[in-house]
Amino acid sequence: MSEKKSFVIPFDTKTGRAPESVRKPLERRVSNLSGIFFDNQALETAVSQGNPIVYEFYDMGMPETEGDIAFGTSIVHPGKVGEEFFMTKGHFHTILDTAEVYYCISGHGLMLMESPEGDVEHQEMEPGQAVYVPGRYAHRSINISLKEPLVMFFAFRADAGHDYGTIEEKGFRKLVVDRGGSYEIIDNPNWKES
Ligand code: MN
Repeated sequence: MSEKKSFVIPFDTKTGRAPESVRKPLERRVSNLSGIFFDNQALETAVSQGNPIVYEFYDMGMPETEGDIAFGTSIVHPGKVGEEFFMTKGHFHTILDTAEVYYCISGHGLMLMESPEGDVEHQEMEPGQAVYVPGRYAHRSINISLKEPLVMFFAFRADAGHDYGTIEEKGFRKLVVDRGGSYEIIDNPNWKES
């Protein structure tokens, strides 16, 4: 007899949230993203002015085995640090060649991706669209709306693991900045090869 059991998580179809009695999301505030945004001074100011939540995500605590699927929702709040929109830290998978799927539930965002060799891709995310993030690509979700949260459902191989350190050290090659009602993708002046 298998010890595995089916289960259901009721994610809200607009907010992406599960009832608090089921599970609470993890949160990342501006202070947790030191060194991630380009403008450090703007980050320090935001920390001192209430240290808002930048994003939240649900971790179902799935066993980290290759046969399992980790999934949940992420909620990137509207806002900016300097010229950059609120975004997730971004990461490679520890098992580099493992893909991920994100399905946009609500809001308007960008999925920014880059390979170790420097191929950069981005996909705009709107409700109803699924983006396939191929294996080997670091990925970061960016909320390019300053009005509403970017809510997405994600699923990936549960043993993929998260390498946040490479991005913390080197950054992404590109930044996504606000240009007053639209966005622009520019070179990251702080990006370093190693
Ligand atoms: Mn991932």
